[in-house]
This record gives sequence, C-alpha cells and structure tokens, in this order.
Amino acid sequence: MLLLHLAAIAALASASPISSPPQANATERLVIMSWDGATDWVVDRMLKEGKLPNVARMASGGVAAQYLIPAYPSKTAVGHVAMFTGAWGNINGVTNNSVPLLPRAEHTILQSRSGFDGNSMMAEPLWVRAAVEGKKVAALSAAGSFPPDPFIEQIKAKGGDPANFVQFSGFEHQIMAASTKTEFSAQAVDNADGWPGAPQSRRYRQTSIPAGDGRIHILIYDDPNDPVDGFDTMLIRSGMTTQTLKPRAAADDIDGWAGPFKVREGDLLGHAWFRLFSLSPDGKNLELYRGKVSGLRGTESPEEIERYLDAYGNFHDDSFFNYTGGMLGPTLWEGGNGEAERRLMEIVRLDCHFLKRQFDYAIQRWNPNLMFVYTPMSDSAGHVWMGALDPNRQGHDKALAAKLWPFYEQVHVLQDEWLGHVLDRLGPTGALTLVSDHGMEGISKTFYPNAALAAAGLMAYDGNRIVPERTKILTPPWSDFFLVVHGTDWKGGIVTPEQREEVLKAATEALLAVRDPETNQPVVTAVLRADELSHLGIGGPAGGDLYLDLAPGYYPSSRASQVAVGPSRSPIGDGVHGFLPFRRSMHGIFYAYGAGIAKGAVVPGLRQVDVAPTLAHLLGIGVPRDAVGHIIGGVFRR
Ligand SMILES: [Zn+2]
Repeated sequence: MLLLHLAAIAALASASPISSPPQANATERLVIMSWDGATDWVVDRMLKEGKLPNVARMASGGVAAQYLIPAYPSKTAVGHVAMFTGAWGNINGVTNNSVPLLPRAEHTILQSRSGFDGNSMMAEPLWVRAAVEGKKVAALSAAGSFPPDPFIEQIKAKGGDPANFVQFSGFEHQIMAASTKTEFSAQAVDNADGWPGAPQSRRYRQTSIPAGDGRIHILIYDDPNDPVDGFDTMLIRSGMTTQTLKPRAAADDIDGWAGPFKVREGDLLGHAWFRLFSLSPDGKNLELYRGKVSGLRGTESPEEIERYLDAYGNFHDDSFFNYTGGMLGPTLWEGGNGEAERRLMEIVRLDCHFLKRQFDYAIQRWNPNLMFVYTPMSDSAGHVWMGALDPNRQGHDKALAAKLWPFYEQVHVLQDEWLGHVLDRLGPTGALTLVSDHGMEGISKTFYPNAALAAAGLMAYDGNRIVPERTKILTPPWSDFFLVVHGTDWKGGIVTPEQREEVLKAATEALLAVRDPETNQPVVTAVLRADELSHLGIGGPAGGDLYLDLAPGYYPSSRASQVAVGPSRSPIGDGVHGFLPFRRSMHGIFYAYGAGIAKGAVVPGLRQVDVAPTLAHLLGIGVPRDAVGHIIGGVFRR
C-alpha cells in the first residue's frame, strides 16, 4: 500500500515539465521563512548598500531568484496559499483575503469568509503532503493553516499520521488589543495595600486594569534610591508575577520591557508585555504601552501551548496601525520628533527576539523536517510608510521620505538578524527559504468600481446596502480587484448564461469610461477577462469574471461610495498591494540556502506556484497534488 502510494508520487514528480537533477545532499530540515510584504526593489537596494548581511549570505552561499512573481490579486492570503500549494487561486480557492462561500448554488454572492481560514483552501498544501509522507511539520505561523482540522482530516484520509502536523496560530483569537494607558484614573488609590513587601516610599498610587478573566495590578511609587523627586518607579503584578519598570525613552534594546504576564480568557491563554515610556513626577500622566494579547490555538494541548508560549514569549504584536492612530505619540508627519517611530521599532525588535526563541524551542521540542515561520512587520511598515516612500507616487514628499526611510530599513534589519539566528542553527543537513507574498506601492486615491456600475444601472444600492435582486455585476464585499457576474449559478442570481456576455460588455465600457474629475484622465487602464486569461490563475469558482488594472496612484475598493474616485485614507499616501503581478513594485523575494541548494546561483524570476514543487523536491517528497508550478532545477546543488 505504502509502496504503491510512493510510486504514484514519483510518477507525479517525474511528470513535471522540467527534469530535475538527483540530490547530492539530503535536506533533512527545511525552514520556510516569510517576510510579509518584503518588496523586491527594497531588498535589492538594501543588499546593494550592505544593510542585510544575512540575506546577502543566502545570496552568495545559496540561490537568489531575480524576483518572485506573485499571484493576482497580489495579496497576503493569495500569495502564501499559491506558494504553499503550487496552484493559483482558480484552483486553490484562495482568490483574495476574503473568499465567497461555495458552492455558489447554495450561497449568495454576498456571503464570505476569511481567505486565511484553512477551510477556504481547496488544494493540497505542502504541510499535508509532507505529513502524509512521514515528515514532521511545525507550522508556527503559516497563512491558511488555521484551523488545522481540515488538514488533519486530509492527512488521515491519505493514510498519514496526524501527529506529524504541529500547528499554531494567534491571529484568530485576540484577547486584548494593544493600548497605551496615559493617566491614573480617579479611582487610583494612594497607598500600597495589597502589595506585600512593597518598597519603602513617601507616596504610592495604585490601580488595576482588566485582563481577560482577571486583572493586572499597577503600583507607582517614589523610589528613595532614584534621584527623581516624585513618582519614578512602577510595579506590575499579576498572579505570582511582579516586575519593576522605570520610565525610559525608546532605545535600541529590549531592556525596558516587563513580562510576560499570563492572561486567560476561557480556555485561551496569551501573554501581556508592558513598556513604560514616560511617567510624570506627580503620578498623573504616564505612557504605559501594553502590547496585543493573542490567544494561541492549534493542534496541541493547552499544556503544550502554555509551554510553547512560555518559551516563545508572545505572538506577533503588530502595532503599526496603532502607531498611525497616535498610540505611540505623534508621528513624524504630525510634528513628532521620531520618538513614536523609535518606540515602534522597539516593538518590532521585541517581536524579532521572540521569533528567535520560537525557533530554538520548536527545533528542540519537535525536531521538524519542515517548519513555517512568518513576520507581518515588513508588510505593515509598507502599508503605513510606502505612500511617503514610493518615489513614483504623485505628491511624493522627499523630505518626509528621507526621515521615514531609516525606520523602514530598520524593520528589515531586525528581520535580517532573526534570519541570521536561524541560518546559524540550520546545521549541515538544514536548508532555509526566504520568501515574500507580494511587494508594495504608494497610492493617493481610491477607485470605487461599484459606484461606476451603479451609475450605469448594472447594480443597485439602497443607501449603503447592495440590492441583490437589481444587481447584475459587482465588486462583492469580499473582492476589490475583480468583478463577479451575479449569474444564476449563485443562489438568488439574476443573470442567465444568455445575458452574461452583454453584462460583461456593459461593465467593461462603464469601467473604462471612468475619469478622475481632478485630472480628466482614465482611472481603469485595462479590464481583463478571466475566461480568456486563465493562465494568470484568475477566475475559478471563488474568483471573478473581470479583473482591473488601474492607472498609477489608484487602489480599488468595494465599499459603497457616491463618487467613483475619492482620496485614499492616509494623509501621506497609502502603501498598498494587489496589482497585476507584472508591476515591478509588486514583485516579492525568493532566496534559498543550505543543504541541497546550489551555491552562489542566480535563477530568473520565479512564480509563486513554483515554490511548493521546488521545495517538495528539495525535501524528497512528492509535489503537492494540485500544483501547476514547476520544479526549478537551478535551485539545487549538482
Ligand atoms: Zn499587506
């Protein structure tokens, strides 16, 4: 039975269009590291300037692809799932960060769920193929891998051992959003009752904050050994844990952090970390940042999750949008002096520190053959800053860009240090692949396709509510780059197969006719038909019928709007992605290094669907069942 199965897999692998060389070195461990939103031109520029020594080490001692061609739309869920399955969205079902509920006949065109939900994935991912073939997999942070249940079912159904698949995620269960406490409330108490062994002080103030099912207690006092006259020291207490904090400006280290404090909510467990950026001597004003507390879930028992979290530190506290919201102080473009950005860098630095501990623990605990690790930070940094940094954006502010660029660089430098930590620990039979899901581009304006369709009578709103019975085609709420015909294949659909062509033509005309009232220039530069361009991986049951390319500076939105063109959100322009994969700005990265990998080789631009077949070959397992990508021979050592 097993032999038969392996023979079938071998047949599948040899059916690949590119014949692949035999492997000289067995790759016993492969780490797939994803830097979300790491943009090829940014990484190239930093490499040239010598600022990413560990990526450089991969390039000189391993393989660098000139760039990685993303899936379309070039989005996080879409790109990762294309890399992990070797198939595009028309096959793997992950066509956007949200996807429709299928089958169409049983759901309306407005029903959707997250594209990151494992139930949205219709193709076999690497982690299933590897686990079925007896490899131990640790998916510590892998887009699309939660909940693990559908994958465990697949592994069982294919005769594999589900214990081979270890999986965690903290994205789905937030216990507490990050926050900054800025004052002691009126209920704060001026004594140290309830603080056994509290230090000697002339004055105290204490309060407590809710934390999951419990509370975390905070005491400030005047430390007689501290030269500051007034409140200068803080104690934080939860359960058996008490830690001391001193107010301290942002620094290039993580010494100012207190934690972890365990936070439980029902059966969820997360970690709270605190950072006291300032404290006024009168004790009234402070800046006490508490990072996001995420509850971890996955394949493992609550006891195992607790041990893992203790060793790891904390799941990602991605605070970039809190920063733009003012949580860390005024930003550089709001008159700040850089302190908010330096605080943000401390948060990224702490996350990268945790990622090193996560790797060390996972290696000794599970000794995996295949490990998935990830950071969202490079993507979030691009979203908040690329509007200012992109030299091609109209209205680009050179002076602001010069101030922000060093911080954007620092995010990559910190990630590079994490990469170096992992490279140092690969051993003689280990290999690492560094990838990204998409690039980033700056824009200033939002395009609302549905406003143009409504004006042409092709869809209807009642206020902001879509009226399905009067909608022939639309950009549904789960899409932005593509339009979907409201055909009779959908539950409640109204367009018959005979009417389809007419609707597609009318929508194409309506979109191409849109002009920006400020410039009188067209906004939509091309309308692509999925049925004519299926090699792009577009269309399919979860995909659209018409896909958009827009003039530089515009980004599409499915939100309701009175006007077809409006401003984008950020005053400095927004960093975005999703555009056609041929745009230089959308290109991602691919590097490989270690056992079985060629040394110092450059391969041409790879497609995301080539990643899974190539890595499967490296690991000595079959290509994922639904893959359409190639095994790229130039990656391997000869
Ligand atoms: Zn993104």
